[in-house]
Amino acid sequence: MDYKNLTLEDPELMRIIDSESKRQAEEMEMIASENYVSKSVLEAMATVLTNKYSEGYPGKRYYGGNQIIDEVESLAIERAKELFSAEHVNVQPLSGSPANAAVYFAFIKPGDKVLGLKLDHGGHLSHGHPINFSGMLYDFVQYEVNAKTEKIDMEEVKKIALREKPKMIVAGYSAYSREIEWEEFKKIADEVGAYTFADIAHTAGLIAAGEMNNPVPLFDVVSTTTHKTLRGPRGAMIMCKKEYAKQVDRAVFPGMQGGPHDHINAAKAVAFKEALEDNFKDYAKQTIKNAKVLASELTAKGYKIISGGTDNHLLVVDMTSKNLTGKEAETILDRIGISVSRSTIPNDPNPPMNPSGVRFGTPAITTRGMKEDEIKRIAAWIDSAIANKQKIEVLESIRGEVKKLCLEFPIPDSFCHFD
Ligand SMILES: *Cc1c(COP(=O)(O)O)cnc(C)c1O
Repeated sequence: MDYKNLTLEDPELMRIIDSESKRQAEEMEMIASENYVSKSVLEAMATVLTNKYSEGYPGKRYYGGNQIIDEVESLAIERAKELFSAEHVNVQPLSGSPANAAVYFAFIKPGDKVLGLKLDHGGHLSHGHPINFSGMLYDFVQYEVNAKTEKIDMEEVKKIALREKPKMIVAGYSAYSREIEWEEFKKIADEVGAYTFADIAHTAGLIAAGEMNNPVPLFDVVSTTTHKTLRGPRGAMIMCKKEYAKQVDRAVFPGMQGGPHDHINAAKAVAFKEALEDNFKDYAKQTIKNAKVLASELTAKGYKIISGGTDNHLLVVDMTSKNLTGKEAETILDRIGISVSRSTIPNDPNPPMNPSGVRFGTPAITTRGMKEDEIKRIAAWIDSAIANKQKIEVLESIRGEVKKLCLEFPIPDSFCHFD
């Protein structure tokens, strides 16, 4: 896209966007929830589909002129169904948190009891945190990771479920690096008569590629963002069993939202097509391999990785193993051009604004084509920056190295020829 109209009409904004493009090209994104979309996804978002109002669903709209929009949405739905073996898909949720709001709205009532993983143990705000609508509207009981293994302890989940008898159990997390025992969750939920809700916002791409276990055929309802490992536009979707199709659709519209964002839904369709290609499997496989190499390299350099390693695309590092807080580490890494996000660790003694950990993710750098060799260099730079945090000239020199590597691995325009 040449942005020639935007350049003429609003040079002030165009200049800001250009700076961000340059930053993304020259710096390294290791935030676990971020990725780069293809030019095709970008192009689909920048279309006249944004001009349309289409409240309702394909074939049942509240506005005229939606025959073509119906084709767009149906295409996105069919591709998502194929990708996740889903019985029913709603592609209209605007983002992950609104999708989760719609899931609760569809299945339970305010005041009902729900089980969710605690935020500082890797859960998401929308899984019952007291400052989030979920924690205010529903009676959330929070489970935790095991203090020793730092993994989810299914015996403990079972004990809490039997004691609390929740209406719904939520699994799927934001800062948890291990495979999830979906079958065990399902068994426990069946035993207490609870709905099963999986939030695969982070791992959806890895699941779609068959590199992690898929809860969709097993669980009652599954939500996901489309912009994390799935590498699509910013947005979300809900998948569920056929028997819940009506209540889920009604909860999204008219329950929570008005008109869908048809240009974004078109971009979702493009991303799903890309994820159905064989090379997306290679991408997912390499993303996990890269995260495992990063974990073992950092472990060898004396960093403590929460749960001792990773099965997916992310790792949480306890920075107190290097006498730093997560925020301090985030700031140091910013200076060498590597973006990460500070993160709580289980039972974090530090406050959420300045927690003890840092979360690293490999989805974005793997999209650029980086592999094991590059990861080893990155791990060495991270360690050197942290060891030399006071030495501005060392940090500047590493920043140069990071930029050089980024320019050697540009953000690809297309994923059709990924190797
Ligand atoms: C990222 C995330 C979300 C929220 O997505 P937004 O699009 O930022 O609202 C929900 N659940 C989990 C587990 C996430 O990691």
